[in-house]
Amino acid sequence: MPANKRLLLLPGDGIGPEVMTEVRRVIDWVGRNRAVSFDITEDFVGGAAIDAVGKPITDETVARAKAADAVLFGAVGGPKWDKLGFAQRPEIGILTLRRELGLFANLRPALVLDPLVEASTLKPEVVRGLDLMIVREATGGIYFGEPRGVDMLPDGQKRGINTEVYTTGEIERVGRIAFELAGKRAGRLCSVEKANVMESGLLWRETMTALGAREFPGIALSHMYADNCAMQLVRNPRQFDVIVTSNLFGDLLSDLASMLTGSLGMLPSATLGAPDARGKRPALYEPIHGSAPDIAGKGIANPMAEILSFAMLLRWSFTLEDEAAMIERACTNVLATGLRTPDVMAPGCTKIGTTDMGTEVVKELDRLAA
Ligand code: NAD
Repeated sequence: MPANKRLLLLPGDGIGPEVMTEVRRVIDWVGRNRAVSFDITEDFVGGAAIDAVGKPITDETVARAKAADAVLFGAVGGPKWDKLGFAQRPEIGILTLRRELGLFANLRPALVLDPLVEASTLKPEVVRGLDLMIVREATGGIYFGEPRGVDMLPDGQKRGINTEVYTTGEIERVGRIAFELAGKRAGRLCSVEKANVMESGLLWRETMTALGAREFPGIALSHMYADNCAMQLVRNPRQFDVIVTSNLFGDLLSDLASMLTGSLGMLPSATLGAPDARGKRPALYEPIHGSAPDIAGKGIANPMAEILSFAMLLRWSFTLEDEAAMIERACTNVLATGLRTPDVMAPGCTKIGTTDMGTEVVKELDRLAA
């Protein structure tokens, strides 16, 4: 009998707990109906932790996250905590987890489900069937590089400095994840930088080329400058399978790609670290949306981004591909019946709330399993 999978759930603030309630029903369904079971622990993070224990995350919560096989996160933040100093803010909860778990690769899929093809601002013929994955390096590059700061110059001007720094080791570890992902998908990886104007970009390109030739000869590796990539994502996004890029370019390109799909309430993400000696890879899964204070408590948040984050968790942390695909299919099928939360509402569809959407997904899972 395989050991139960240990999950740490961190609902957080705003709509985080609302969407997490619905994903728990999906987790329970998988535990009841498939050959896998879960030990679930739930804990405070963000504003909820500030209110409960006076800080955005405790050492005990970090230890629980390290002990878990995977962490499923909701969202943190809200106006109630906006006046706190930076070190006490709810966002420190997620930043601490990323640092302590060594989560350096952020995976952001941009998937256009057929029933939502009209939700994109781009023409349906451009985005129909879109299924791409952006792998963003998440702990290095210009957001962390030294020197940084603001200097005073002798002539009285100020000078702001940030530094783009990457080592071959940092490029290789995120590159390896991207190559492995491409191997599980269509086998194409596009590495994105600005090797034409940045030395760090040139090193990125050379390192990715050498890594591909050495360890992943079966993957079709291409290279693209980041400015061209932004243009190509809008012109013809379906040309991409997996994109790998630095922290800064990934920040911009993954937000751009998410909008190709039309709704924040639909988009999951994963952040992965390096496997330990036993092969266990630290991993945190979360929707890309925030705590949405404007709709919190109204029962209208779309729970699908959180449910699809759980599907990603099953796929990437536990290689439960069938179960992940089943959850994704259930979400698509429910949308295809015309049932919608307000954020993805369209003419002729029927508006439902968060709880009813969870109920419909579970009902559809029952139907798919029958
Ligand atoms: P947001 O993603 O919370 O909301 C942006 C807009 O999208 C809002 O109009 C919201 O109602 C809508 N929206 C988001 N998720 C939705 C869902 N599941 N269903 C329906 N509509 C949805 O971004 P924001 O308003 O810029 O930030 C609000 C708070 O969230 C801030 O405190 C911010 O710091 C925090 N935040 C947290 C995370 C995180 O926890 N990882 C990420 C982004 C923002």
